[in-house]
Amino acid sequence: MPGESPAESLKAESFPLALIGVRVLNRDGDSELDWDSLTFSFTQTDRMYMATCKQGEEWQSGFMQDFQNLSLSPAAGVINYGQGLFEGMKAQYAEDGNVVLFRPSDNARRSREGARRLGMPPVPEEMFLNAVKMTVKENIRWVPPIGKGALYVRPLLFGSGAILGVAPAPEFTFLVYVSPVGPYFKGGITPTSLRVSDEFHRAAPGGSGGVKAIGNYAPGMVPSKMAKKEGYSEIIYLDAVNHKYIEEVGAANFFCVKNGIISTPELTGTILPGVTRASVMELAESKGYEVREEKIDVDYALDADECFCVGTAAVISSIGTIEHGDRVVEYCGGEVGPVAMEMYDSLTAIQQRRVPDQFNWTVEV
Ligand SMILES: *Cc1c(COP(=O)(O)O)cnc(C)c1O
Repeated sequence: MPGESPAESLKAESFPLALIGVRVLNRDGDSELDWDSLTFSFTQTDRMYMATCKQGEEWQSGFMQDFQNLSLSPAAGVINYGQGLFEGMKAQYAEDGNVVLFRPSDNARRSREGARRLGMPPVPEEMFLNAVKMTVKENIRWVPPIGKGALYVRPLLFGSGAILGVAPAPEFTFLVYVSPVGPYFKGGITPTSLRVSDEFHRAAPGGSGGVKAIGNYAPGMVPSKMAKKEGYSEIIYLDAVNHKYIEEVGAANFFCVKNGIISTPELTGTILPGVTRASVMELAESKGYEVREEKIDVDYALDADECFCVGTAAVISSIGTIEHGDRVVEYCGGEVGPVAMEMYDSLTAIQQRRVPDQFNWTVEV
């Protein structure tokens, strides 16, 4: 059965390679991954998709090839000026035996919006979806068995042509690769401890915070590492103008619940419009919750009954404590909050088709 690869199939001779991070395949095509020890990290797979487009022209038809390193000019736009964006989505086994994607058209649309903001040619929806489906299909043996994780799909769009001045590159590359990943939280969702940063901001009005521009992420690495060193899981970013409204948690969207009302920061251009965020909002509304998109003052969040953050990687992550200045607040006695739990259960059930997909969110590859 595809996707099944018992740990027992690990052969002794593959250990040295496994130790240096190279995954080996046995002859019948099962990956020798131990599905139970998958984490959210990169594992090289078999195949990748690539297409190019010259500035001012149409996209050439793309092609599949073996996973391999890229050959780029040192003057490529992406490595000099960060002209690039990425997407992130998951393919996983559903209860009915199909491998399904979750709302891939939303990722396709978001990538087009990002392309326009960054001066790159948008990838047409059909081309985006076909590339994603093809890449998943040609790496199907890397899709973990149901419940063991997912195949993370990473589309990239970047300026691959050489350019010396600060301007859009003369050529662009659209690429899709995949990597199997484990569930973000082993043994269920563990509530995280977060610190509100008064020092760093993720995005500012008029910038690129609202799109998945590659350049948005490196500046968050040091703040995130600093917080982790001090025992926090991530930092909460406030808005760069008033320094008081919650924007995001690392690279995930924020929610809080107070008196049964679910709130999430409104999209003002500095917040990434997450597919998971939109899904949680729709799902919560369908369950009868009042859902508000609004400015969330950090003090409102500190007084909330429950907080959680959402994104493709973790789906939903419960927040145990938030520290801001000399105030530390613990939510739900440090346990997973009831709304986070309900949303996690409902959303993952839809994603794996364990319940009828009333929203038509899942798409077979
Ligand atoms: C990708 C991302 C998210 C989550 O978006 P999803 O579509 O739900 O995965 C949230 N915030 C930032 C900054 C992101 O890059």
